[in-house]
Amino acid sequence: MRDKSIYVTQPYLPPLEEFIPYLEEIWENKVLTNGGPFHQQLEASLCEYLGVEHIALFTNGTIALVTALQALRVTGEVITTPYSFVATSHSLLWNGIKPVFVDIDPNTLNLDPEKIEAAITPQTTAIMPVHCYGHPCDVESIQRIADNYNLKIIYDAAHAFGVEDAGGSTLRHGDLSVLSFHATKVFNTFEGGAIVCPDAKTKTSIDRLKNFGHVGETTVVAPGINGKMSEFNAALGLLQLKHIDKALLQRKAVDAAYRERLKNVKGISCVSNEAEKTPNYAYFPILVQDSYPISRDVLYQGLKDQGIHPRRYFYPLISEFPMYRGLKSADKINLPVAMAASQQVLCLPIYPDLDISVVDEITQFIAAQAA
Ligand SMILES: *Cc1c(COP(=O)(O)O)cnc(C)c1O
Repeated sequence: MRDKSIYVTQPYLPPLEEFIPYLEEIWENKVLTNGGPFHQQLEASLCEYLGVEHIALFTNGTIALVTALQALRVTGEVITTPYSFVATSHSLLWNGIKPVFVDIDPNTLNLDPEKIEAAITPQTTAIMPVHCYGHPCDVESIQRIADNYNLKIIYDAAHAFGVEDAGGSTLRHGDLSVLSFHATKVFNTFEGGAIVCPDAKTKTSIDRLKNFGHVGETTVVAPGINGKMSEFNAALGLLQLKHIDKALLQRKAVDAAYRERLKNVKGISCVSNEAEKTPNYAYFPILVQDSYPISRDVLYQGLKDQGIHPRRYFYPLISEFPMYRGLKSADKINLPVAMAASQQVLCLPIYPDLDISVVDEITQFIAAQAA
């Protein structure tokens, strides 16, 4: 047993002394929230870093998803993936919308565009796909379907910070894209999130919605919510941005080490990141297939016994939770690929400070079971 446990992720924290000047400035200004100077700077810096036009910061990714649906006035039914973190579907329920689950593609583990059309009904108003593990969806096929049926697209891009395809930021696709800056994500503000908007008008309406629907001192134009990011969190974001490129390079090295060491292990497959021009190495999922001598759960327990704590993201499927399993689209028969992935997946530890010697240890353990 190792003396220190290794978890699937470890939040990235820049040196504490670098944060002190930001705190001093907040104490000096006495502006704590409501779109203060750090909030404005972070919006501008993120637009530049991510290569997008407009960003509205939020207190977390879930409130951003709920607000994105409000902003586009999405109602009725929304097609989404069961293979995600539960917040994706919860944001629909919080808007009184019925989630309709559609199966995923076995290679990307993202919503399978070929299965979307069959799930469209007269009540369908939008599609909410997820760029799972930061691997981009088949955005063109999804856009084509949305255009044909006049549907909105809101991407849950919680995993996709900084990911680029051949044409630029993955966040430019769809009507809106939603980011999470939670502690466990590639870029964090402790808690935080954002909506990437295509134009200034949309950003203005989203900015109103996240501030109770206020316009000026005495006018309220919408039943808005409190979704504002504080100055403290925005300052953390500005500091994190200074270190993000280095953190991504460290993640890249961990990712490469896993791929190299696992490539000849029978029954273990790594999810490809070759579709993206700039990946973000947010997660390291492996699929433990039938040809591997022991089950995913036995491997999971074996690693835990060594003090290594991988996670079964995403098991169970969202469609298996009590508030969803009664839906017709939640039936296992409808979701064979997602069911299989959920039984086979194991996300291995990946974070900037993870030592390659730990990757060696983990991959040797995995290979030893197959020897
Ligand atoms: C993290 C996450 C969210 C929720 O983001 P929070 O900032 O934690 O509210 C939503 N969707 C997915 C896919 C996530 O991984």
